Amino acid sequence: DTVIERDVVVVGAGPAGLMAARTLAAAGRSVAVLEARDRVGGRTWSDVIDGAFLEIGGQWVSPDQTELLSLLSELGLGTYPRYREGDAVYLAPDGTRTRYQAATFPTSEKTTAEIDRLTTILDELVAEIDPDAPWKHPRARELDTISFQHWLRRESADDEACDAVGLFIAGGMLTKPAHSFSALQALLMAASAGSFSHLTDENFILDRRVIGGMQSVSLAMAASLGADVHLGTPVRTIRREPGGSVTVVSDHITVRAEQVIVAVPPPLYSRISYEPPLPRRQHQLHQHLSMGLVIKVHAVYETPFWRADGLSGTGFGSQSLVQEVYDNTNHGDTRGTLVGFVADEKADQLFALDPAARRERILASIAEFLGEQALNPVVYYESDWASEEWTRGAYGASFDLGGLSRYGADLRTPVGPIHWACSDIAGAGFQHVDGALRMGRAAAESILAA
Ligand code: FAD
Repeated sequence: DTVIERDVVVVGAGPAGLMAARTLAAAGRSVAVLEARDRVGGRTWSDVIDGAFLEIGGQWVSPDQTELLSLLSELGLGTYPRYREGDAVYLAPDGTRTRYQAATFPTSEKTTAEIDRLTTILDELVAEIDPDAPWKHPRARELDTISFQHWLRRESADDEACDAVGLFIAGGMLTKPAHSFSALQALLMAASAGSFSHLTDENFILDRRVIGGMQSVSLAMAASLGADVHLGTPVRTIRREPGGSVTVVSDHITVRAEQVIVAVPPPLYSRISYEPPLPRRQHQLHQHLSMGLVIKVHAVYETPFWRADGLSGTGFGSQSLVQEVYDNTNHGDTRGTLVGFVADEKADQLFALDPAARRERILASIAEFLGEQALNPVVYYESDWASEEWTRGAYGASFDLGGLSRYGADLRTPVGPIHWACSDIAGAGFQHVDGALRMGRAAAESILAA
């Protein structure tokens, strides 16, 4: 086994780890990045499947994601807008299908008023929350000890309104049932994007994509780090030496360094052995974060047939199997691509089926939005991140009920020479590439400042 010496070793070559290494290298520090997989990019992964270019992981960029936007321009990577001409489709809980253009769902007057009222309440609460320290809100504990589901039901007796509002944070973002996380965790999700209204505005939150794919951000950062990025090197042990330095042991390579940045999702922290063990507080904290579950479904067609029908490809239905669908056609592609999402308990149900039955159910659900032609794609693929050893869910990790107010303040606290960086411990950009980059930069800057 090779033993090398560096100033800082980074565990994980996702956007967070690579940004940390890039920031340190730019300041003249020597680095080594150890990545478990045989590729960089982590939860961003752009690949050709059966002849179709697909964004298997993270892909969208919103206007508030300034860390990502400035990196894109630094790396010379272009973006393009998501197709959004024409009508969207809303599937009501009773299955009624309505085409609409407005910014809000075409529900009954009463439900629309209720959605607006809940949105206002949420926007006002979110405005009081510091995304980087939601635990500092005066009512943090109270809001963290009621589930988002119960909080919504306490505010409103209109089920359709509660589900429509809940969809944007539960199935749509944290990819957990609304009964399993707190109102405070929901407020953090919204605050991390600037407001709750931003989350409900797909033209904001799903604004643009990266030409060549989101993974090219990580590929470009890794290319400039060259031989300092080591693939196929899962880190097994982080040993703190008596003098304060660290020895980081992976398969194939061991790095001796002054500091280490662990840039992996929190549910994977415990895959690494720490010698001596982490403090009690981290042992406890880390057990309260878990990954959501979502199936990202890709269906490619010879043409974007929905456009000819005056449809944008956008569809929502809180009770539908596929609760969101969008036109995901690639830049300059003549074929049409749809992307749909099946989250949390609906994903459990589907994973209990065999692949053929699952495909049939999913395509039937997309056809309810966009018509029978959706049933016969030329390429069909399901992103299954929960089966990936080095991710174990999607999109990211969040706290259980009460966890955020109880442990949040220590999420990013270093343990001696061990620092943490990941989108799932971010405030602004939480669970997004932008937040990963922010956390990578912050960890590097705190090392540089010391
Ligand atoms: P990761 O990307 O998870 O990278 C962590 C890296 O650490 C991985 O490469 C992993 O292999 C490695 N690793 C883990 N354990 C070890 C170990 N012991 N030793 C060495 N290496 C290890 N974000 C957006 O901004 N927009 C979107 O549209 C969007 N959509 C998404 C859709 C899906 C299906 C998924 C899964 C994610 C999506 N995201 C999106 C989220 C975004 O991809 C993540 O927030 C981002 O990739 C997190 O970066 P990270 O570096 O913090 O972690």
